[in-house]
Amino acid sequence: MPAPSARPSSRSSRRAPELRFGDRWTFDPAPETADPKLKPRYDLFINGRFTAPKSGRYFETINPADERKLAEIALAGAADVDAAYAAARRAFPAWSRLPGAERGKYLFRIARLLQDRAREFAVAETLNGGKPIKESRDFDVPMTAAHFFYHAGWADKLEYVAPGARVAPLGVVGQVIPWNFPLLMLAWKLGPALAAGNTVVLKPAETTSITCLKFAEILQEAGLPPGVVNFVAGAGETGAAVVAHPSADKIAFTGSTEVGKAILRSLAGTEKKLTLELGGKAANLILDDAPLDQAVEGIVNGIFFNQGHVCCAGSRLLVQESVAEEVLARLRRRIATLRVGDPMDKNTDIGAINSRAQLKRITALVASGVREGATLHQPACVLPEKGFYFRPSVFSDVTMSHRIAREEIFGPVLSVLTFRTIDEAVEKANNTAYGLSAGVWTGKGSRILKLSAELKAGVVWANTYNKFDPASPFGGYKESGFGREGGRHGLLDYVRVG
Ligand code: NAD
Ligand code: MN
Repeated sequence: MPAPSARPSSRSSRRAPELRFGDRWTFDPAPETADPKLKPRYDLFINGRFTAPKSGRYFETINPADERKLAEIALAGAADVDAAYAAARRAFPAWSRLPGAERGKYLFRIARLLQDRAREFAVAETLNGGKPIKESRDFDVPMTAAHFFYHAGWADKLEYVAPGARVAPLGVVGQVIPWNFPLLMLAWKLGPALAAGNTVVLKPAETTSITCLKFAEILQEAGLPPGVVNFVAGAGETGAAVVAHPSADKIAFTGSTEVGKAILRSLAGTEKKLTLELGGKAANLILDDAPLDQAVEGIVNGIFFNQGHVCCAGSRLLVQESVAEEVLARLRRRIATLRVGDPMDKNTDIGAINSRAQLKRITALVASGVREGATLHQPACVLPEKGFYFRPSVFSDVTMSHRIAREEIFGPVLSVLTFRTIDEAVEKANNTAYGLSAGVWTGKGSRILKLSAELKAGVVWANTYNKFDPASPFGGYKESGFGREGGRHGLLDYVRVG
């Protein structure tokens, strides 16, 4: 009879080798190959036409995955912003008087035309922004279309936005959007504005202007009347001109809290309405009775979706002490299997960081975490040589005073903290300047009800994370901003009720 110790090894020698910590299956390259149909140069979109900038200036836009130039984008100066507002002002009377059902037809047409060109737009979005193609294909583009479909349905039902009251459009709206979800943020802004009968001047972010200006092609194809939507490209200076323009009746801004605060100050005392969707530092709470494997998937989706460039990212993980060690072990095992690299590969989980500047910001904040004494866990994945990439990162031994627990990193970096009681979890979760979103993982409905009432966050996800629907209002408390986007509440921010 063989010695007991010999048994396991003789048995395992007949089996396939066990998958060890950090091992990955290799995948053959699976590049998406649809043609993004890029033009070498994009002009501004004013009064229904592509228009050369009066500024005479153009700036380069690159692919963050390999730092190669993709196109030149017209830079809108003050005179161009002025022309865009003039066009929007001229278009307003006819557009706002159009029967809602007619406005709805344009929105339906826009949604369908985007669906027709979905692959082309997904590839363009990934090329310019760095997000994995599986996300632009399965999330950004379909959700963009869904927002136009949803708001198309509202256009002839505006009397139900505020039942019993008269609702009227605000007029001309100036909108400034960020680079993390270029098409989707455009849809969140245009959908309710147009359904309610407003006209628009919108500025995309400077690193991701391409899909916005391609979207102008769809507006032309849809036959949208000239001036109803105008796109002015450029950086902060152009954005400031959009915000400051005297013809704007409302400003809608999504971006950093820093710029949001400056806009709030600059509009104080004016007649302009304002909505701000700013940063976040969401707590994702794992309770001791949570289904741990599902929770780990939710943690991964919460922080690594779109490289963590997500304002509602679950960037602060709060784990109940009794399961903390187990959750961290499973999480470390899971992040070793994430595929980081070429965003255009259909197997890629984590693509490129949007810009060199953002990579620098992430790198500096991660260095501060190490310096302040937190423990950094990163898998040993190989990153491409060109382009902007960052390893999925998990910090343990984090305390509430660490910068990585307080500041928005806006990258694939998770800070893990622990708690003992539910009350302590609520206190820690709410101990932040932000209040955009939160997550709760537990097997008990009563705990979900208690926590969703006590967490000061605009959205609380229970046993899921990063779920969106056009009918569901999204927005923040405190320094995460004010106003809602999506649903009836989102429309209320684009009408005058009286
Ligand atoms: P940002 O706020 O500077 O840029 C967002 C948009 O605002 C861009 O279109 C930009 O051109 C424009 N803008 C910049 N300065 C402006 C001004 N003075 N007036 C009007 N518009 C202006 O954000 P960023 O510098 O690209 O990123 C910095 C940090 O902001 C990130 O690390 C992240 O923490 C946060 N951020 C949050 C979101 C979000 O969705 N909430 C989006 C982008 C960035
Ligand atoms: Mn900035």
